[in-house]
Amino acid sequence: MNTVCSINLYEDGTEKLYEKLCERLQELELIFDVNNSESEISKVNAAAGTGNAISVSRDFANVLEIALKVAEETDGAFNPSCGPLVKLWGINTDHAKVPADEELEKILPLCDYRNVIFTPATNSPSGLENKSAGGEVSLSLSGMSLDLGGIVKGYAADELVSILKANNVKRAILDLGGNIYVYGQKKDKSPWKVGVKNPDNPTGEPKLVLECSESSIVTSGVYERFFEQDGKHYHHIIDCKTGRPVENGIASLTIICGSSLWADVLSTTLFVMGEEKIEKMDFERFTPEFEYIIIMNDGEIIRSRF
Ligand code: ADP
Ligand code: MG
Repeated sequence: MNTVCSINLYEDGTEKLYEKLCERLQELELIFDVNNSESEISKVNAAAGTGNAISVSRDFANVLEIALKVAEETDGAFNPSCGPLVKLWGINTDHAKVPADEELEKILPLCDYRNVIFTPATNSPSGLENKSAGGEVSLSLSGMSLDLGGIVKGYAADELVSILKANNVKRAILDLGGNIYVYGQKKDKSPWKVGVKNPDNPTGEPKLVLECSESSIVTSGVYERFFEQDGKHYHHIIDCKTGRPVENGIASLTIICGSSLWADVLSTTLFVMGEEKIEKMDFERFTPEFEYIIIMNDGEIIRSRF
């Protein structure tokens, strides 16, 4: 996942259990790693425009289904087909640069999520061999590609949490590249404390300290992955309508939710939507309950009702 992950199981932390969790992460990495040509996502991307539908695992289907649902509900604010734009900008690579307008114009039509064709597997009760099959995916146009970087870490965190539950782990902290999950209860029953970074000084004192019961806390911020050109800051969350990094006054957006998958996808989505659209949107129709905290570029903090 191109990031650092840490897991703390406290008194339940046996070698065997840590191994089990790492194995599950590696399994997911083999499915979602865009830098591995054998991964499912790479196979789907390589088949773009050929008319071939690629069979995908249940894991892949679980993630893509929610990604497409959120895309539909938010008019593409979250866009799992943003791969060509992410590649063009090259953010977090050694060749990051501001693309020419003509390049952006050429690429935008390749980032329409409605050209991602997903056919979920029908559950055949008898078909044991189908147990892991999630369905088929194809991308209609040559040059299209999926990028699930805004959702996969959340899915992975939830998958680890189900292993914790199955193994009766009492308490744990998971940190998958900033996707935090505080699990169970602290020994002294006090709430977990989770800091929200100060966008102006991400390595310094946190801007806020949240007191949380079991939940996932995920932040999307302009300071996470970015580059500078001609004195201007370009970050990694793209508005696929303009093809450029989102500029709406938001410096970071944090989601607190029982599901890390939803916290992850919503942190990216709400970041793109911006404050006005967020306030008008009826999220309850398609998401689990969640809270958000926005830190604006000028330092103002906007919170959903708590
Ligand atoms: P991070 O993964 O750095 O913690 P996010 O969860 O906000 O941060 O995801 C940002 C990543 O999502 C980008 O690096 C890119 O791969 C992808 N992405 C960028 N813009 C969008 C978008 N509009 N919709 C969906 N994914 C996006
Ligand atoms: Mg996200």
